[in-house]
Amino acid sequence: MVVLDYDHAAGSSPSHTFSDSPFFYDRSAANGSGQALFQNASNVQPHSNPHVSYYFPAGVGHYHYGERHPMKPARLTLTNGLVLAYGLHNHMQVYTPREATKDELEAFHDSDYVDFLSTVTPSTPPSPAFTRFNFADDCPVFDGMYDFCKSYAGASLAGARKLAAGQTDIAINWSGGLHHAKKCEASGFCYVNDIVLAIMELLRYHPRVLYIDIDIHHGDGVQEAFYNSNRVMTVSFHKYGNDFFPCTGNINEIGTSLGKHFCLNVPLQDGIDDAGYVSLFKSVMEPCITTFRPASIVLQCGADSLGLDRLGCFNLSIAAHGECVRFIKSFGLPLLVLGGGGYTIRNVARCWAYETSVLTGCQIPDTLPNTPYDAFFAPSYRLHEALQAGRVENQNSKASLEKIRVQILEQLRYLHGAPSVQMQEIPPDLAGGWLEEEMPGSGGKDADGSKTS
Ligand SMILES: [Zn+2]
Repeated sequence: MVVLDYDHAAGSSPSHTFSDSPFFYDRSAANGSGQALFQNASNVQPHSNPHVSYYFPAGVGHYHYGERHPMKPARLTLTNGLVLAYGLHNHMQVYTPREATKDELEAFHDSDYVDFLSTVTPSTPPSPAFTRFNFADDCPVFDGMYDFCKSYAGASLAGARKLAAGQTDIAINWSGGLHHAKKCEASGFCYVNDIVLAIMELLRYHPRVLYIDIDIHHGDGVQEAFYNSNRVMTVSFHKYGNDFFPCTGNINEIGTSLGKHFCLNVPLQDGIDDAGYVSLFKSVMEPCITTFRPASIVLQCGADSLGLDRLGCFNLSIAAHGECVRFIKSFGLPLLVLGGGGYTIRNVARCWAYETSVLTGCQIPDTLPNTPYDAFFAPSYRLHEALQAGRVENQNSKASLEKIRVQILEQLRYLHGAPSVQMQEIPPDLAGGWLEEEMPGSGGKDADGSKTS
């Protein structure tokens, strides 16, 4: 269970600034810092001018899990406020996706679970179903819960479909990435697993999909869904040990049956810093991508791996977190970028706004633009708040990280190249013609969603 009261005070006085970080994207000329990444990856090319699609479901930031619950959908409103105030919407297509349908949710989730989700309300009397579907403190029933789930799931599905149709290079849905939800069970603040749904959609067109998870928690729901499959490789970087939620994600979890070796887990300890994390991330992901050769990538960008997170215990800066995103973008593969955890909401908004700039190839100033939410960003009013100052002691030694790296690379050797996948006939669209039924927007002409701005 997630410990809800693990709430660190955010009052430490960091001694470093963002510009000390070797991962500060804005410090170097565009693409300048990325070239070294390709010295061992001759078969990959960076996006030249990627087409970026941004999905923001109407009203998704207005839901409340409850007063004391750490998951605050309002962080999505803050994020979107920064994205728009920075003018990043001028560099991408912005869509208001429709909600996912019940049929679409049932592509992964059991129908009796979705039935419960769709009918339960805060005034529903207690019943054994609450226990059966794991509705408790972590996953409360709140007003509009089912609508919230349909909203973020619809956005991830819309992004996946746009990518599968070859109509965009990158799709972003910061409201998605709820990686703990299971087939017939809520878990860790997640009710519907939009990631699994999106990957299933991509698999209708792509022989292999790579899933990467940089949330501080193990991406257990996605791993479990594809544990037997060699068409989806799941790679999760997370804190592991001392009963940290969800208590899975040991390095020896590698997949089963056909999926054996198509699951990688990178278990880390408290306090990992920028240098250790980014170095390990790149040295694992580069051979992973060149060996598995995915047709598309889904990247879950949980921001609870940042320093000073309310529930997290890492020391990552926004620059380092964003460097992982930039690195994956640099492979030039169709990319679905999703949110996830993140519980110090002012920093979640900073992080995802910054990563939107990375994905659109824009350089944005460190001084935050004015938004209606300025009070959240006091007193610095800066994008790159210093988060990496070692509030939590780094328990990852160089030797321990090197040992993990060697073990992971050893596992990759078992892949022996990507499996050849015989593509079956594409099944009919669950929605029966998604493109035709998108909501017309206010002034939007695109058939795949309505432009909000
Ligand atoms: Zn998390």
